[in-house]
Amino acid sequence: MRDVAASYPTGRLALEGISLDVRAGELCAVLGPNGAGKSTLVRVLSGSLRPARGEATLLGRPLAGMDRRAIARCVAVVPQGIASAPGFTVREVVMMGRAPHQGAWMLAAGRDEEAVARALDACDLVGLAGRPVAELSGGEQKRVAIARALAQEAQVLILDEPGAHLDIRHSIEVHEVVRREVAERRLACVAVLHDLNAAAQYADRVALLKAGRLVAHGTVEEVMTYRRLKDVFEAELYVGVNELDGSRYFLPVRGR
Ligand code: ADP
Repeated sequence: MRDVAASYPTGRLALEGISLDVRAGELCAVLGPNGAGKSTLVRVLSGSLRPARGEATLLGRPLAGMDRRAIARCVAVVPQGIASAPGFTVREVVMMGRAPHQGAWMLAAGRDEEAVARALDACDLVGLAGRPVAELSGGEQKRVAIARALAQEAQVLILDEPGAHLDIRHSIEVHEVVRREVAERRLACVAVLHDLNAAAQYADRVALLKAGRLVAHGTVEEVMTYRRLKDVFEAELYVGVNELDGSRYFLPVRGR
């Protein structure tokens, strides 16, 4: 993104002056308080909101000049929440990720089957492939949404709060799958995260937003400092160092 500004018909600028690069093989966490512009950034990157100013480019091509299908071949989005797909099995939902690659008749060619099998395997869903998605737990449904995005075989992966509503084990599983896929398939990944600890553990780079502006962009060590997080989130927190691996951790501190 180069100097991107974005707004909604009803409001003032929701993003302003955003310049941000995400490279192949890199997981960029987008952090910031409610209303900071994180979802708006996701909308611009996925081509569903056109910047009012500046330019967003994908693999060197301006997003503004690409049609929806072309964008969908390059960008896979895992939305917030869990996918409701009543009546569909896990395999069918993951196959939906192939839509941008398929012809008018949606015939599942061998290439599509391969991509679906690989995505099911990556997300540990092989044993659940025939089950209706509606019958799965929240953590399993989130893995299905990620598998669908992986089956799309896009080079850019965007996730909106992948760990939300998941218990500790499922949250770790989901972040691990994403981390591994980003590394193995050299995906450029943007993940909106509310969990500062997940960001510190999984992100290569962190983009910190506040009131529509990019306050800081860099490594966890550069960006996630006590002072900056306290200012941006307007909350007291404790920043600790994990003795086991030297990584940072964050605790909210009760207001007095
Ligand atoms: P975040 O995802 O960080 O919580 P958003 O990108 O949703 O923030 O919101 C950024 C700003 O844009 C906020 O001021 C919000 O009120 C506004 N906004 C978001 N969505 C819309 C919309 N559909 N119409 C009008 N204003 C919106």
